[in-house]
Amino acid sequence: MSIAELRGQFPFYATANPCHYLDNAATSQIHRQALTAMAGQESCRANVHRSPYRLAEASSHAYGEARAQVARFVNAAAADEVVFTSGATAALNLVAYSFGETLQAGDEVLISAAEHHSNFVPWLRLRQRTGIRLRVLPLLPDGRIATASLAEMVTERCRLIAVTHCSNVTGAVTDVHAVVAAARAVGAKVLLDGAQQVQHGPVDVQKLGADFYAFSSHKCFGPTGVGVLWTRGGVLERLPPFLTGGGMVGLVSLETLSFASPPARFEAGTPPVAQAVGLGAAAAWMMTLPWAEVHRVESALLARLLDGLATFPTVRLIGPADLEARLPIVSFEVRGIHPHDVCQVLGEREVALRGGNHCAQPLFAALGSAGATRASIALYNDAADVDALLDGLEHALKVLS
Ligand code: PLP
Repeated sequence: MSIAELRGQFPFYATANPCHYLDNAATSQIHRQALTAMAGQESCRANVHRSPYRLAEASSHAYGEARAQVARFVNAAAADEVVFTSGATAALNLVAYSFGETLQAGDEVLISAAEHHSNFVPWLRLRQRTGIRLRVLPLLPDGRIATASLAEMVTERCRLIAVTHCSNVTGAVTDVHAVVAAARAVGAKVLLDGAQQVQHGPVDVQKLGADFYAFSSHKCFGPTGVGVLWTRGGVLERLPPFLTGGGMVGLVSLETLSFASPPARFEAGTPPVAQAVGLGAAAAWMMTLPWAEVHRVESALLARLLDGLATFPTVRLIGPADLEARLPIVSFEVRGIHPHDVCQVLGEREVALRGGNHCAQPLFAALGSAGATRASIALYNDAADVDALLDGLEHALKVLS
């Protein structure tokens, strides 16, 4: 499948002035199939799991199909292992609240210094509420999680290891095998933040061996407003709900309160039906992709970008320099120039980048950096996008130095 063919499937590239879009780690462009599926709301809109009329049943069916598509996409053992949330942030908070409720003061949760704030702040809050001990895996100088430290940091009190599958700053992919093995040795659970991994798929939750896997639709070619928490079968049954309200209960009275079985127990209120249907369509499309070819093309662009950046003496890469075990998310500092200024000048040349601390302040503190400019590549990017960045950077250095 050529890049031109791929781009043809993304309405963004048919607009009058598509830019060199290299901010895919923040949000990817949306696939045509996701938009088409959501347009189905014209004839299939009603609340789900509430009413017996034909339209409501069709809507419930579409929502259930979306769950099944997402389950197939991550190779879940059953569709009911998939809970729809409003995004990765909500999925991670769900674990921090529901699983967190089963923890006691002194129990340990192990995270890493590479976490996005959405997998850092919920655990800080849990520590404030319950007195858990929060431990943080350090980073290697190139930003990879120092999994060699697992041996000393995973104790008998460890109940959960919650780490990112891939860093949204460095692009480094975590050695999940080492994390799962360390957790299993002490009977702890594993939560992976897959927000950055899914668009570079495929993800197989059964092979990964974790207990929880969180991600957002809008980073993997689907709509905003929906995300996923996959949980290994049997785990959710033993957890209390996070949000409460309609649709997640059994019996309710002043004296009685019982909860529905998962996934309903964790989907209080009207769920994001249209968005879930859009995500289901995006997931179905991703399952048709020739991933080996996608990886080959993305790696070639990554190499082109890293080689180009290495020619600038004042540019410092924040992340692994080799192509192994990393994804095409590339952050860099430019000595003496603020990342926002770099992004501004590049933005004027229609190169879409992001600058700052990328919701990962602990990572930048650990690496002794004040922030970085980030370019993140997706499967529809091409060499012209990378070259526009490199040309623009040369220009920015002239204007800003
Ligand atoms: N985790 C990682 C690694 C991310 O990069 C992001 C978003 O950038 C999130 C979690 C949160 O995703 P969302 O904002 O879609 O909830």
